[in-house]
This record gives sequence, C-alpha cells and structure tokens, in this order.
Amino acid sequence: MKRVHIAPTLLDAQLVVDALSSLGIVSHIFNANAAGALGEVPFLQAQPEVWVEDDTRECQAREVLVDFLNVKPSAEKICPHCGEHNPGNFLSCWQCGSLLPD
Ligand SMILES: [Zn+2]
Repeated sequence: MKRVHIAPTLLDAQLVVDALSSLGIVSHIFNANAAGALGEVPFLQAQPEVWVEDDTRECQAREVLVDFLNVKPSAEKICPHCGEHNPGNFLSCWQCGSLLPD
C-alpha cells in the first residue's frame, strides 16, 4: 500500500479513487470518517487519504493524479453586452443571452 494523495474533502478523494479505478488501479480512502473529529486531531491528519493497493502501480497512479489535478475549469468570459461574468464553457450569456467571445 502506498499513499498517493491527500484530498481536501472526501468527495475529492472519491473522485481520485474513481479516476484510478477507471485505469484498473485499486485504491482505498483512509480517514474517510475523520472529518467529524476535526478539532480533536491536527487538520492534516483528518484529511482523506488515497492509498494504492499495489505498490508497483504507485508511479502510474501519481502520473494520473498530476493530469487529474491539473484539469482546471477554463477561464470565465465577460459578456460584451451586459458585462456579466460567465463560466468559460458557456456559449451565450446566462444573464442577457448575448453570444460570448471565444
Ligand atoms: Zn450579457
């Protein structure tokens, strides 16, 4: 067993486990229930940890994580018509319906 990731939340940890399992890498979450103990244990020790079962796949798992964790939502777009901020994947303004620039 090798620890490959410390996640900020249990949901993040689960997403990492899912990403690894899609590649056939078996991993487990530890500290999954520690969030309720915050205040009694140091913060870092209470964060969910992702451990890879097969030590020989640690390097592969880390490569997956680098890609996985570097995926950021595209920059937001500002509507040329009303000035509203829109998520980068929107094609038209949610506020006024104007087409957004690429
Ligand atoms: Zn607009």
